[in-house]
Amino acid sequence: MQDIKELNLKELESKLLSLGSNKYYAKEVLSWIYQRGAYEFSSMSNLPATLRKALAGEFYILGLELAGLQESIDGTSKFLFELKDKNLVEAVSIPAARRITGCISSQVGCKFACNFCASGIKGFKRNLTKGEILDEVLYLKNNVKNAQLTHIVFMGTGEPLDNYENVLGAIRIINSPLAFNIGARRITISTSGIIPGIEKLQSEDLQVELSVSLHASDDLTRSRLMPVNKKYPLKDLIKCCHEYTAKTNRQVTFEYILIKGLNSDGLSVKKLVTLLKDLRLAKVNLIPANPVPELKIIPPSSGEINYFKESLFKAGINVTLRKERGQDIDAACGQLRLKHEKD
Ligand code: SF4
Repeated sequence: MQDIKELNLKELESKLLSLGSNKYYAKEVLSWIYQRGAYEFSSMSNLPATLRKALAGEFYILGLELAGLQESIDGTSKFLFELKDKNLVEAVSIPAARRITGCISSQVGCKFACNFCASGIKGFKRNLTKGEILDEVLYLKNNVKNAQLTHIVFMGTGEPLDNYENVLGAIRIINSPLAFNIGARRITISTSGIIPGIEKLQSEDLQVELSVSLHASDDLTRSRLMPVNKKYPLKDLIKCCHEYTAKTNRQVTFEYILIKGLNSDGLSVKKLVTLLKDLRLAKVNLIPANPVPELKIIPPSSGEINYFKESLFKAGINVTLRKERGQDIDAACGQLRLKHEKD
């Protein structure tokens, strides 16, 4: 059996023709899957019965099953999914004022081993397919409560630019008016700083948002936190971001997790200002660290956080402070999967 979500419109049209049907049903099939939430071909009531039967004989629609769910008092829900090969992935839905953001995983595990992140602890297993990435979005869309899924961020487990083709393939479906119809500017790719991936992305005809995990303002600290920095050090990464903004005229958001005793003091913020002050169209998003018991990580005090934020603001850098969500439900990436695998 094949995942029908691997097919784009043209491929689906050819498939329908090869089944002796009319290619014009392809748009109907996409609408049933992505807009009307059908998990079974038999429920596609306006398709001929023979076509429904033929499709059901070759394809499946949803390739994952819910293996765990945690719901926070702030409305954040964390879903643990079991894939067909029994691997586990996580996705999170995060409601805010007028939006619901789906935080999606792109790989099973992660090879980049950032030391503040539970996802890297067990290493990398494999890339998610395009269909599996779409499974996460589909499940979230059909299960968020009382609202529409409006935004997608690739900030779950995995490095999206290390699974470039499948992530970009999924984004084109998420963005398509025939499928999820979520605007490109509401889709964010979050990378640990894979320079070749950022360079490739700037040539795509997609207005997606780019977010770069910075988390430190000098190479020594960043390499300690994020081993990927040894391959793509800060100087090269920031140069690449300069080129990205020049070519696309789009903003880069720098994520910066504030960790007590490591990257949140006065010297760190001074270096951060030096690093970013000439970068046009940049924003810093500060994130107080989610405590990870396995990694002995704790956030700084609120006084230290405010000092860091104010220092950036006074230097003319666009800065926001992300409110932590789902702290009562292990919402930091990788935590639920890790817990489940330890049980
Ligand atoms: S932060 Fe992202 S890139 Fe780093 S280990 Fe976690 S999932 Fe991988």
